Amino acid sequence: MKRVRPGRMLRLRLLVFVLGFMLLALPVLALDEGVVKGNNVNVRKGPGTNYAAITQVKAGQALYILSTQNNWFQVRLSSGTEGWIRNDLVNRVLKKVRVKGSTVNIRTGPGTNHKVAGKVYTGQVLSVLAEKNGWYKVHIGGIAEAWIAGWYTVDDPSGGSSNAGNAGNTGSNGNVGNAGSGSGTGGTVKITANVLNVRQGPGTNYPLVTKIGLNEQHNVLAQQNGWYKIKVNNQEGWVSGDYVQYTPPANPPAATSPGTPDNSGTSGTSAPDGSAPADAASGSGQTPTAVQITGNYVNIQERADLNAPVVEQANSGDAFVVLDSKNGWYQVRLTNDKIGWVSSEYAQPYSGTLPSRSVQKKEVLIVPIADGKTFKIIDNGGRPELKLEGWTDKQYRFRKTKEEVKMILELDGYSTRKYEGKVERVGITQLKVYPERSKAIVEMDFNFVPAPGIGKTDSNKVTVIPVGMAGTQSRSLVGKTIVLDPGHASVQPGGWPDPGALGSKTKIHEKDVNLAITLKLKTMLEQGGAKVILTHSGQTTLSLAGRAAIANNLNADIFVSIHANYNNKPAIAGHTTYYYAPASKPELYAQRQQREKLASAVQREMVKSCGRKDNGILQANFAVLRETKVPSILVETAYLSNPDEEQLLCQDWFRQKLAEGIFNGIKSYFSN
Ligand SMILES: [Zn+2]
Repeated sequence: MKRVRPGRMLRLRLLVFVLGFMLLALPVLALDEGVVKGNNVNVRKGPGTNYAAITQVKAGQALYILSTQNNWFQVRLSSGTEGWIRNDLVNRVLKKVRVKGSTVNIRTGPGTNHKVAGKVYTGQVLSVLAEKNGWYKVHIGGIAEAWIAGWYTVDDPSGGSSNAGNAGNTGSNGNVGNAGSGSGTGGTVKITANVLNVRQGPGTNYPLVTKIGLNEQHNVLAQQNGWYKIKVNNQEGWVSGDYVQYTPPANPPAATSPGTPDNSGTSGTSAPDGSAPADAASGSGQTPTAVQITGNYVNIQERADLNAPVVEQANSGDAFVVLDSKNGWYQVRLTNDKIGWVSSEYAQPYSGTLPSRSVQKKEVLIVPIADGKTFKIIDNGGRPELKLEGWTDKQYRFRKTKEEVKMILELDGYSTRKYEGKVERVGITQLKVYPERSKAIVEMDFNFVPAPGIGKTDSNKVTVIPVGMAGTQSRSLVGKTIVLDPGHASVQPGGWPDPGALGSKTKIHEKDVNLAITLKLKTMLEQGGAKVILTHSGQTTLSLAGRAAIANNLNADIFVSIHANYNNKPAIAGHTTYYYAPASKPELYAQRQQREKLASAVQREMVKSCGRKDNGILQANFAVLRETKVPSILVETAYLSNPDEEQLLCQDWFRQKLAEGIFNGIKSYFSN
């Protein structure tokens, strides 16, 4: 360690002191957002009690502050209503922060000596109303105020753009996307800035008409120079395309979905101005890692609001990873990596029963190759799926390529077909079909690194191969979906529980060892930012294929089964990791690289962490490895039949080392 001369140290301390003082003294710029303090507060026509009340607002309701006059704020409610409120009845939002820790306590006051009032979760955005001793007083989901330690948060950049729209980028329309390509009118815009200025004309030089807020939607009356003309409270004005998301007019068939049970109205307590329903306090429970849809045609919506636009519809049995929850809504990640909200009335915590996913698929390219043989590309919610019609599972294979973004498929049989094109909507930038001796070759270039999934060929010789994304996702654990399977503990059909192997001396059950290691691993992965789903947490009636199906249905990134080994020869010992991707099974073979890489990384790190004998990686036709459509491994941590390792597997520190090794392996798999 380097020593610092005393004089220098003093200067450093002084600097730190001065800087600290400056930070304290610096006012935090307030956003143009506020939260109502008192209950049943009148919103009036003008800045004074002599003006008539227009409506009332409740404590916790969020609003936008348009202007200030004396002790009054001119405000705009989420319903669009504008009026005046006494400023001492509104807490101004200073800034927005995002929760950093995986689960963070919120308290009744600014310090750990205060009572725990609840919990918040990674990524949750909180409005800061006050600061004290490094703690923030925050407003949570329209329902409550509490304190959170500031060091468990990061400033949310989206909350800092309070003066968006004032930005002088009149001409820039780089963000506008579809704008201008349409007929000029129609469609809607959704506001993506916290507060956006509405102006009298299409440019920042025009006077202000009013202000509108995040996620508001308005019909587009006209478009010009990257600006949109909209109507707000009977006033027409223009908003910059840089701060909105434009949706062109819907096609007539898509606009109506007959027979769809309308979600709206199910929550009668929802206030007309879109504030949280009265029973919103249900957020006190834990957010489940995943949920399963309980009805058909259930809307997944852009916001936790029954009136919000529908992103996608889901059906009974569909399962999704949960990112956040509030006010009786779950924020879920859809298969196409879109994000939406589903009401908890139509979703239950995922229990691991066998769901079947239903996403609306569209055939977007059909290339006949030969008589009775057709190659198709399907749009599965923005992701490509390859559909082979007329080939058995032994009549197609993937050819190795060096280019990451290319996939080459060899299809058996003579063909004269030549085709060249692209399917941009699913990210295929170039597609070539051509004959090569007795085969038809399909060459595909993607605008992402493709990861072919497992195709199942049915009796009609139809194979569907989903193509996932391998390389464009972040090279970290954050946001990854990982299914962990603590081996055994199944209840067999006769009611007999399967304990797995048995320790010869201690009589310890393998299932208990597996679960203990899995739970430690789960904690580590979650702290790394991953979403972890267990196939069970003690006992399960699921079949082995059912365990695999959990990973398949969640479209998990990986599946890891944890076991302890057994052999009749007590001398046999050490770590082993299994995977399965034989050349005889093309659908598994297509994932060979990933499966082998995952197995190698975990094996290497487990050996490094625990130091038992390295038995290497092996292939085995285990049901959980065969039935998983995502990269999967089965880890045999150590031998319960070996006297030394039996003792070790009973010890908490050794289980911890095993979990650390497996964790490091998984981390390395995603980062390389
Ligand atoms: Zn086992």
